[in-house]
Amino acid sequence: MDRGITAEISLEALSQNLAEIRKLAGGRAVIAVVKADAYGHGAVEVSRRLEREGVEFLATAFTSEARELREAGINSPIIVLFDPDPGDIFSYDLIPVISDNKTASHLSSEALRRGRELIVHIKVDTGMGRMGLKDNAVEDIIDIARFPGLLIDGVMSHFSEADLADHSFAVRQIESLRSLRQALKQKGIRPRLYHIANSAAIINLPEACFDAVRPGIMLYGYSSLQSGAEVVSVAGNHVSFLRPVMSLKARLIRLRRLCSGTPVSYGRTFVTKRDSLIGVMAAGYADGFSRCFSNNAEVLVRGRRVPVAGRVCMDLTMLDLTDVEDVAEGDDVVIVGRQGSESIDACECALRADTIPYEILTSLGRPAHKVYI
Ligand SMILES: *Cc1c(COP(=O)(O)O)cnc(C)c1O
Repeated sequence: MDRGITAEISLEALSQNLAEIRKLAGGRAVIAVVKADAYGHGAVEVSRRLEREGVEFLATAFTSEARELREAGINSPIIVLFDPDPGDIFSYDLIPVISDNKTASHLSSEALRRGRELIVHIKVDTGMGRMGLKDNAVEDIIDIARFPGLLIDGVMSHFSEADLADHSFAVRQIESLRSLRQALKQKGIRPRLYHIANSAAIINLPEACFDAVRPGIMLYGYSSLQSGAEVVSVAGNHVSFLRPVMSLKARLIRLRRLCSGTPVSYGRTFVTKRDSLIGVMAAGYADGFSRCFSNNAEVLVRGRRVPVAGRVCMDLTMLDLTDVEDVAEGDDVVIVGRQGSESIDACECALRADTIPYEILTSLGRPAHKVYI
């Protein structure tokens, strides 16, 4: 690669993270969330590995993502979390999540037309305020259960703040799902799988695990518990048992000696304070290396932390390499990962860019050239 960012994806780390999730989930089914190209790690390769590890379900956001997995030969059950396309649900043997009666009716018609029975999961809104049946959830589910051709195998909900140290709202959501389960049971509706636990809940709220867990970020080696400003961190490093799956690197394509007082990059926001060695990295915001990192990030070169100098450009970023010995054109620049005794993870980048590791992984990982190790 002469340009851009290369993502090295450790499938071994992915397998280990799954094993840790299995320990916490204590025998419950694992629904591995691989939406957004597996959080930027490459959904096909990640799903292939998870399938080999015997994961019970994969989950994508949209039907098109699930179709891509089927076309790549993935056979595991796939849950489509949002906006299922009725035709493709049947053609690709997918499990839709139904969050309104209209979708239930479309899927039922399609099931009748094809003379088939469809396994579905139902989404209820217990406090996320995004998707799902809400005020009359019990009656709505009873209605959906009467639609011909639909077999309700799961009922799910989603947490809005299971990552906070204050669990009170999350506990209300759990109680709300429990009482829904109770009410449905009394009506003779007994879906096999109730699930609500995302990564934060798997780590933080064991009582949220119900019959299945839905980890996303944990699989990739991170937790929202350590992810920055608005999130209250749980004391101690809870998640040291997880291993980051992705490392990211770019190439140093030019080295230049600049005299003290020389401005660097757009807007002259960086001016050398001494005779300096400035390097040019072949990656910029078009590669997902956010413009927020202008004068506001460190990367690793020859095992040393070095600062970004000036504004990040579209395809290029300048680095102050004055303190690095023996640096050469063609050297690797590590954006996320380990080099020598130094390391940078996606949480550090997230803090600097005022965001969460999820956004760092998806925005840097998705466009990256990927190498699986
Ligand atoms: C993304 C997502 C998850 C996974 O969340 P993490 O915080 O990454 O574990 C689980 N369930 C639903 C509905 C999601 O959209």
